[in-house]
Amino acid sequence: MGHIRILGAGECGLPLAHRLLRAGRPVTLVAAREAAAVLNGTVTSTQVKFPATLDLETAAGLGHWRSMAPEIQGIRLAAVLDGRRILGWTGRFSRPAQSVDQRTVFARWLTDYIDAGGDLEIGDPPVAEVDRRAAEYDLTVVTRASGELAACFPADPAWPAADRPARQLAVLYLDGAIPDPDDLGIYVSLPGLGEVISYPGLTGAPGEERRCEMLLIEARPGGPLDVFDPHDSSSEQLRRTLRLLDTYLPADLADRYRAAELTDARAALTGAVKPAVRLPVGTLPSGRPVLGGGDVVCRMDPGGAQGANNAAHCAEIYAAAILARPDGPFDRSWMFSAATPWLTGTAHHAARWTAAVLDPPAGMQQLMQSAQHDPALANAFADTFARPADMVRFAAPNAGTAPQG
Ligand SMILES: Cc1cc2nc3c(=O)[nH]c(=O)nc-3n(C[C@H](O)[C@H](O)[C@H](O)COP(=O)(O)OP(=O)(O)OC[C@H]3O[C@@H](n4cnc5c(N)ncnc54)[C@H](O)[C@@H]3O)c2cc1C
Repeated sequence: MGHIRILGAGECGLPLAHRLLRAGRPVTLVAAREAAAVLNGTVTSTQVKFPATLDLETAAGLGHWRSMAPEIQGIRLAAVLDGRRILGWTGRFSRPAQSVDQRTVFARWLTDYIDAGGDLEIGDPPVAEVDRRAAEYDLTVVTRASGELAACFPADPAWPAADRPARQLAVLYLDGAIPDPDDLGIYVSLPGLGEVISYPGLTGAPGEERRCEMLLIEARPGGPLDVFDPHDSSSEQLRRTLRLLDTYLPADLADRYRAAELTDARAALTGAVKPAVRLPVGTLPSGRPVLGGGDVVCRMDPGGAQGANNAAHCAEIYAAAILARPDGPFDRSWMFSAATPWLTGTAHHAARWTAAVLDPPAGMQQLMQSAQHDPALANAFADTFARPADMVRFAAPNAGTAPQG
């Protein structure tokens, strides 16, 4: 029976490893860090997950937080200029979304994997080592997007290459923020400056999880929101954030964060994501092919809230394809056919949606205006975060009313 090696223990690698292990397939998972180090590390994402993703995790026995994590019922969208709302609506999701700190999730999934007898290696092998070890396995799946390994995957020529990130990011997990009265996430567009996104989530060690508010600032590079220095302490990041909220948000929104404090010493992150769409099959220096999943193949700015959802769907599709072929071979052509349903059904729609959200084309701006007076359209628009493929229907002629079905 083909032995599978998975590099990267995150949103894609961990569920894939669990699914294969549960099905009795020989699998080795390579993680950069032990569970305790993940838990004691810095926040990595804001990871809101939509119902289809949560369903996948529940079905795989990984949805431990479903009844515990706060439900995000929809989006309270506002466009704000000079501190005043110039547009606003609320759109409710058909079913709630949730967000659980990746530190909590990955630490628990890693521990469960070991407890279930999974084979785990801790390390950060260089490409030459990955190549050498790949010869011992029937299939190597790469789900970590570090530069050297990612470079083994050619850019997809069908997608424009981004030369820089669209946004500079700042993430904070907060205690003491006043919750939205309707359990909605807020999405504030500051035209020309960026976005402020915030929703309730769950953080803390497994068994000690608690509610918090997760805040993401998406700053246009070089603009007035782009004030974060990677060398800032987390308390300095909080101070800068509160000043930005005070300056740019309407007072009633900024007030929600005035008493906020970081949930822990590593609850703040700054950085940027340069989007990239790559081919799903990489070639190691020896010429050996490897299958890529998650961010390594489709990396998106977090503003569209797609990457974790995308990675989870990738894991499910790859697991099904591997389990359908107990003895392989897992050759290059099999890899392309295994990846195609994920790319065409999920990843490419997510990448298009993310690009559109960050820089809404005129038609989408019109729809956002219309949604103010059309609650069904607002709901449908909110649901597009969960089903980016629906964006096509928004773009269709006569769009302007909520897509049906
Ligand atoms: C600020 C921010 C906010 C986000 N918000 C959302 C959101 O709301 N919704 C959403 O769907 N997505 C969101 N994302 C994106 C989402 O977090 C990622 O797309 C998702 O985690 C990708 O899954 P993955 O399995 O490909 O990679 P990861 O989940 O990053 O897993 C990769 C794993 O590989 C490990 N690793 C890294 N380098 C090495 C190495 N050299 N050697 C060994 N292991 C290594 C990492 O530690 C990690 O465990 C956000 C991202 C960011 C940065």
